[in-house]
Formats: sequence, structure tokens, C-alpha cells
Amino acid sequence: MTLSLLNTKLNTQDKCIAYLEKLRWDNKPKCVFCESKNVRKRKKSMRWHCNDCKKDYSVLVGTIFEGTRLELPKFMQIILLMINAKMGISASEIARNTGVKYQTAWFACHKIRCAMINNELKLEGMVEFDEAYIGGKKKKLVANEANLSQITNKRGRGTSKTPVVGAVEKKGKVYVKIIEKLNSRNLLAMLKSKVDTDQSIVFTNGFRGYSQFDNVVEHIKINHSKGYGKGVKTINTIEGFWSIIKNGIKGSYRAISKKYLPFYLAEFSYKYNNRHLQKNALHEILVNAVKDESCLINYKPKGNPREIVERQRGKKIKMSQNG
Ligand SMILES: [Zn+2]
Repeated sequence: MTLSLLNTKLNTQDKCIAYLEKLRWDNKPKCVFCESKNVRKRKKSMRWHCNDCKKDYSVLVGTIFEGTRLELPKFMQIILLMINAKMGISASEIARNTGVKYQTAWFACHKIRCAMINNELKLEGMVEFDEAYIGGKKKKLVANEANLSQITNKRGRGTSKTPVVGAVEKKGKVYVKIIEKLNSRNLLAMLKSKVDTDQSIVFTNGFRGYSQFDNVVEHIKINHSKGYGKGVKTINTIEGFWSIIKNGIKGSYRAISKKYLPFYLAEFSYKYNNRHLQKNALHEILVNAVKDESCLINYKPKGNPREIVERQRGKKIKMSQNG
């Protein structure tokens, strides 16, 4: 259905514009600047004019498509490729598949990830919490006593990877967040903002940062040193999610620096949370893409994407040569 939608309904610029206008305004067009309904469509143009604030605009203003020179049907193709790539897809592969320039593909992918961010998510039921270290590169390891304690450290300190905390409903949705300091205060703040504590039981490992959870929610600690939990008393769901992210990043994106990591986390979370939504996946992304309140929607990374990626790859290649 999605492919046919692409080939029949979204195969020209005009059709894409009409589709987005319907999604965003539902036949009740309004000004994107002052929200006035006193607007009119310009003749032979995709632009609108506001009779109140006198500004011109198109439906793309304030969406992930604003300012793009990429034709919208191509943009739609890229969205579809991204959604269908369970383990992620690199910008160079997108470029090869669609015939757009690498740089254009890279920007488009980041914008699409913006439409995948969901900050309104609230979890409930049986919720697993866990922390992981993602992206970056491993520190060069020298076998001496001091480093040995770092290597065996479960919390992964001593790497340049970024600490990420995840919360996932068993058989449900996931929320992940970068938390630089893994302390009780920050973990508790995430619990309170993302989990309906009255309606949930939370499972964690034995890390002492989680100990204050006892005060606000029903909290079950799984003590790995005494063997793994059984039945529902596990944190297998979140561990499964970590391996999806880690394998996806390793396979498709290589090393990812801290500042871009949130976008990739958004992508993997979105795909995980919408894994049952295959049919209307493209439609769902577009709904997000034209939402007024979408954060970071006009985010533009500074610098040349090719250089950013090469720089990270270069580091990684050097590292593996040394190691
Ligand atoms: Zn206006």
C-alpha cells in the first residue's frame, strides 16, 4: 500500500504539496505565521497569501521539508527507504538508490529523523529500565591492572561512548535518552517524566542509581550476580533493544558522535515503536512531519556532512589499525 501510495499519489511535486496540505490543514487552510484563516491561494503557484499579516508561504514552512531543494517525490522515496530499513540505512546507500547527491541524502535523513522524535510518549505497565553505552569509539586498551578494572566495569566507564538510558514496556514501546551523569537524581527525573508511576511496575538491574525508584514506584531489582531473572522478572526486552541499536549503528552508520546520537536514537525508537504499523508508516511519518510543535524540525547540522562522516570513519579506521 505504501509503495502504491508513492507511485500513484505522491509521484509529482503538486500531488505531494496537495497531500501535505490536506494532512496539515484538513481543507481548512490557515496562515503558518499568524494562524489567520483569512488566506488565499496564489494563482498557478503552490504558495498561499495571508490577508492579515500579508505574508506569503507554502505548506512546507515549519515542516521538515522547509527550504529543501530536493523534489518532494524523491524526499518521499527516501522516507520510505528509511522506514523499510529495519537496521538503518546509510546516506551513501540512499544516494545510490535514489540518484540524489550524498550530501542531499544526508540532510534529508537527518530531517526525517526529526519527524521521528516523540517526546510525548508515556510508558505504563511492566517497564524495564537499563543503561547502555553507545556510539563513539572504544578507548585503546593496554593490558595493565588499571585498565583491566575499566574493561571489566559493567557500566562501561573508560570508553568515549555515550551513556544512554532506556525504558521499555514489556511487549510495548520504548523511550531512550542520553543521560551524561548516571546518578539517582537524573534517573529519577526520567522515571517521573516518562513513566506513569501509579500504573507501572519497574524492573531494573542492581545499579545503585536506581535505588531511589523504590520511593515512587513498585520496583523490582534483578540481581544478575545471583543468576538471571526468570519469567517476567528480567530486563530482556531492553537488552534486546540495545542489541538492535548497537548492531544497526555498527552495520549502517559506523561510529556516531555524541551530538548526532539523539537523531539515531529517535530513528531506532520510532521503528521499534511502530513495528506493527507497517501499512501506514509513510503516512504516520508525514503526519509528524507537518505537526506545528515538532521540535528541532528545522535543525541543520553545521559543516559538510561528507566531512563529518569521513572524520568519524577516519578515526575508526585508525583505531582498528592501532588495535
Ligand atoms: Zn498571517
